Amino acid sequence: MVNGFSTRAIHAGQDPDPTTGSVIVPIYATSTFAQDGVGGTRGGYEYSRSANPTRTALAECLAALEGGRHGLIFGSGMSATDTLLRVALRPGDHLLIPHDAYGGTFRLVDKVLTAWGIEYSPVDLADLAATRAAVRPSTRMIWCESPTNPLLGIADIAALADLAHTEGARLVVDNTFASPYLQTPLALGADVVLHSTTKYLGGHSDVVGGALVTDDSELAERLAFAQNAVGAVPGPFDAWLTLRGIKTLAVRMERHSDNAERVVAALVDHPKVSRVYYPGLAEHPGHEVAAKQMRRFGGMVSFQVSSAGGVDPEAEALRVCAATRLFILAESLGGVESLIEHPGRMTHASTAGSLLQVPADLVRLSVGIEDAEDLVEDLLRALG
Ligand SMILES: *Cc1c(COP(=O)(O)O)cnc(C)c1O
Repeated sequence: MVNGFSTRAIHAGQDPDPTTGSVIVPIYATSTFAQDGVGGTRGGYEYSRSANPTRTALAECLAALEGGRHGLIFGSGMSATDTLLRVALRPGDHLLIPHDAYGGTFRLVDKVLTAWGIEYSPVDLADLAATRAAVRPSTRMIWCESPTNPLLGIADIAALADLAHTEGARLVVDNTFASPYLQTPLALGADVVLHSTTKYLGGHSDVVGGALVTDDSELAERLAFAQNAVGAVPGPFDAWLTLRGIKTLAVRMERHSDNAERVVAALVDHPKVSRVYYPGLAEHPGHEVAAKQMRRFGGMVSFQVSSAGGVDPEAEALRVCAATRLFILAESLGGVESLIEHPGRMTHASTAGSLLQVPADLVRLSVGIEDAEDLVEDLLRALG
């Protein structure tokens, strides 16, 4: 029988250290490992770019949480993305990306990988007919985010997996926004799960990292080869911080979801808010799919400010972002502290003028785990 989520988060890959009994996995701050005779490694470790025990513990833990056989831990979410795209695709291949993809993913695909010969189409993955129509004979991958960033769109992961597989393509799910506590894409048919562990997994805004999890052993071997060849690895302290964050993932995600629901309830009827984006809302177009594939709806909320009173809505959105006291004006998300940002000028500035451009009056919140009443009061005061 598979242990429950929190038991795996706290114990998977993290047996007490066999030599000292250390309950917590040590930070193996070493670049190299002694060999008993040439080629005689103790436990397979030779050099920390190839493998390091602290990183291995994190890889095993995250694989257990996503329900996958193989985990690979990277120095950032973007290095995980880059390694995966270059291993799974060849020049001339085509991929579909969400029309509101994470800004860094869009930039990597649009500015770096097209120069390498990759072709892509942005598509609204919530629209299955449009997604099917965008598939070409050369399509080898569908890149899915659900919920999306920053518009909180929901894609039907099981349906996309079916579509990808009929077309001879892989489905990759960037599961950063949901975390494995809220959603496990491999169980829904996805081939690879990607994380920016910088966000909810680390959970404390103190470390940058990335990860891939897959059941495909052949792909995992090629990814590990490429990772070692390119060197996109985190140091052992970063792996350790992430492992420490993961232990409390379940309780944090419950509280993020509770607080986000309270914030959404305060925003929906607010006269200065024209639209709230949250998959937990019954009127959200992806609500039913989200309810089917997610445990809860998470801590990310976006909203548009209303243009009432002749004020330029973008100026009003910028004013609100600068007026909160508890919600810190900053990029990133998924930490214990609440953050506010303006996607159009900050995280998604690189999409300006493209199909992926976001509304100018959009505000994105990463709702933290402070006291909900303090967060609501802060937002209401900032809205005025
Ligand atoms: C942050 C983020 C990334 C990139 O990860 P880094 O750790 O910043 O390199 C990718 N996808 C999503 C959804 C993200 O939020």
